[in-house]
Amino acid sequence: MTDPEGPKYGFDTLQIHAGARPDPATGARQTPIYQSTAFVFRDAEHAAALFNLQEVGYIYSRLTNPTIAVLQERVATLEGGAGAVACSSGHAAQLMALFPLMAPGLNVVVSTRLYGGTVTQFSQTIKRFGWSAKFVDFDDLDAVKAAIDDDTRAVFCEAIANPGGYITDLDAISDIADAAGLPLIVDNTSATPYLCRPIEHGATLVVHSTTKYLTGNGTVTGGVVVDSGTFDWSANDKFPSLSQPEPAYHGLKFHETFGPLAFTFHGIAVGLRDLGMTMNPQAAHYTLMGIETLSLRMDRHVENAQRLASWLEQDDRVDYVTYAGLESSPYYERVAKICPRGAGALFTFAVKGGYEACVKLVNALEIFSHVANLGDARSLIIHSASTTHRQLTAEQQRAAGAAPEVVRVSIGIEDVDDLIADLDQALSKAVS
Ligand SMILES: *Cc1c(COP(=O)(O)O)cnc(C)c1O
Repeated sequence: MTDPEGPKYGFDTLQIHAGARPDPATGARQTPIYQSTAFVFRDAEHAAALFNLQEVGYIYSRLTNPTIAVLQERVATLEGGAGAVACSSGHAAQLMALFPLMAPGLNVVVSTRLYGGTVTQFSQTIKRFGWSAKFVDFDDLDAVKAAIDDDTRAVFCEAIANPGGYITDLDAISDIADAAGLPLIVDNTSATPYLCRPIEHGATLVVHSTTKYLTGNGTVTGGVVVDSGTFDWSANDKFPSLSQPEPAYHGLKFHETFGPLAFTFHGIAVGLRDLGMTMNPQAAHYTLMGIETLSLRMDRHVENAQRLASWLEQDDRVDYVTYAGLESSPYYERVAKICPRGAGALFTFAVKGGYEACVKLVNALEIFSHVANLGDARSLIIHSASTTHRQLTAEQQRAAGAAPEVVRVSIGIEDVDDLIADLDQALSKAVS
């Protein structure tokens, strides 16, 4: 269903059908869970063609699997990309996106507004590979330009960024990446392709933690890298993994051979083959089930978040609310441009009474769960200063959007009046 002229079906149709056909062996209408590690070759010639990448098919589930292939095609279609590679988690997807681009001594220019785990992955762990990340305020376009140097190989940001209330100006950032001849990688986890389509704003690659809204019910971890198929990897010698002969495949050049599918084929044939961060078919099944209702859930997430943010903003026990869907937000104008269907369901608010009041609030809530997760059907809250950001100084907490008086919420799809009542009773106990 990936039509180069653009999908002929609407989002609600594609989220159910893209990539899936009735099972050729049994006629099963829902995508079966192909719980098999290996797949039988027709004969020795077939096996050789598969191993040489001359024919596409199933060999071994570390590389490809029919259930996972449906998920890959579905997410690629919803994002408007050429292809996708599914992986074991969102963090795996981030490494899989960077892996073909990077080498020791090279760097990636990244936004300061990122999921906490990504900050750790980029500031600490990738150093073990000899890679580095340069953190920049992506609202300061001159600083983004200045951070790019000869060793930069990618620019990375989130569309709706953690800890919420922030929208990245993807058009402005992709102009800068384009001018420097670099791919822009956008983490679209918090927005989903229903609210934001980064490729239409110039992104080269889109990464997802499918753990969140795409699956939508907090059951399995997973990730996806979607390739737009539009980047010219051979324009210069900066991306040898894609433009130069690959010794492990008899000198095959991925970009020359596979064109717009070069990044996807490399991700499977080299990335999954050698790094092994593979999704399992059960996880792909749960995620496919989730995606079938993505648009319905996202509409409700946004509607509830908008109602709750407005209610909190006029409440005397609350100092301020950072939600880009509120007119008071400095990012309100950007929502219409980048996320026309709404500003997502992730935001923070400051409680009068500071750290102590936040701890009491979190303890007193009945419907909201206190967890380090987001994008669940249920409403979630976290007081970062006493949990995920506990080891940081108050200054560092503030810079990360996790000031001691701030809580982050991920608004679910429950009855919004029940959510308001729950926050109301808990705020009364927290702020006296
Ligand atoms: C959760 C999350 C990740 C990491 O994904 P995992 O599936 O937990 O590995 C990355 N980026 C964002 C925006 C996230 O919310």
